[in-house]
Amino acid sequence: MTLKYANRMKGIRASEIREILKLTQKAEVISFAGGLPAPELFPIDAIKEISREVLEEHGEKALQYATTEGYLPLRKQITERMTKFGINTNADNILITNGSQQGLDFAGKIFLDPDDVVLCENPSYLGAINAFKAYEAKFIEVPTDDEGMIISELEEIVKTTDKIKLIYVVPDFQNPTGRTWSIERRKGLIEIANKYDLIIIEDNPYGELRFEGEIPPSVKSFDVEGRVVFLGTFSKTFCPGFRLAWTCASEEILSKFILVKQSSDLQASTISQMELSKFINKYDLDKHVEKIKSVYRRRRDIMMKTMKEEFPDEVKFTYPEGGLFTWVELPEHINSRDLAIKAIDNNVAFVPGDPFYPNGGKFNNFRLNYSNMNEDRIVEGIKRLAKAIKEML
Ligand code: PMP
Repeated sequence: MTLKYANRMKGIRASEIREILKLTQKAEVISFAGGLPAPELFPIDAIKEISREVLEEHGEKALQYATTEGYLPLRKQITERMTKFGINTNADNILITNGSQQGLDFAGKIFLDPDDVVLCENPSYLGAINAFKAYEAKFIEVPTDDEGMIISELEEIVKTTDKIKLIYVVPDFQNPTGRTWSIERRKGLIEIANKYDLIIIEDNPYGELRFEGEIPPSVKSFDVEGRVVFLGTFSKTFCPGFRLAWTCASEEILSKFILVKQSSDLQASTISQMELSKFINKYDLDKHVEKIKSVYRRRRDIMMKTMKEEFPDEVKFTYPEGGLFTWVELPEHINSRDLAIKAIDNNVAFVPGDPFYPNGGKFNNFRLNYSNMNEDRIVEGIKRLAKAIKEML
């Protein structure tokens, strides 16, 4: 039998990270690999109570089909939360999606033809790279430093081709680097997008998890022309298992997202949306987020402290002010994939950095997650990792 798959499947491969994640399931492995929230913080008792209440009070509605746009009270609650990012919007600009990952897929479906170009940070979020690759897009990585994309370099690239359709950015506690863009770079980005008529996808799953300082205004907050699509999610502030997230865009662009949502899966789960909405009303999501932040802040601190003490001086790492990740840079001659294999032998796991560069070519970085392991395991895991690094130096 010859299986005649679509051409686009050639660009879609099993993520190598998944293979590593499989190895990390063994209990003895201390894993800094996934981007998993701390499960002990999931509000299980509150959710039990709320599930019962939703079924008792609105059972028939909760179990029925509902609108593609999403549950209106939840969309209104989201508009209130969006003010944290300097965005004043209303429910007509919000679509509820199954995770922001679905928003990325829809952005690809709506904007990208084969060989269209997506500009992204270097490195960039692997899940977005893979979502856009499925639409046969090409990538140009824009040189990026600790403040975000370097705007002069961005403009040089934009001038060279008219194939650019999207600029994809994660300005707050980026996955994988943990870096946050300065306000100047955010303004610079929107100026370039306005000047060259480009769409920006601003992906912001981590912005609310800021451990120190103020949340900076989002790129979308500077958008007066309606060219920024903002993706938010409840995966990190509530629980990822609900798969509830949102897309905020101009009504014109959002109408396209609604059309593709309709043909993709009709709507997000009615009952989950009603449960989350009730949780926000009854339990104060902000208070819950404070609790998450205080645990993650301590985990970030202990990881930073232990890396400082244990890692050789040649090894550098970012200091994230929030979110879930830090990004480690090894001396150039060490390949982080080789280190990953050695690390697994020592029962500690992380994600090698090269898949985060869509065009490949950089092998001496890796990503560490600090949200999922407790403090003792973080200390022990970093010690094991330091031993593996020293053996390779
Ligand atoms: N964007 C980024 C940058 C992410 O790191 C993630 C998940 N870790 C997502 C999007 C997808 O999140 P979700 O689908 O759970 O909302």
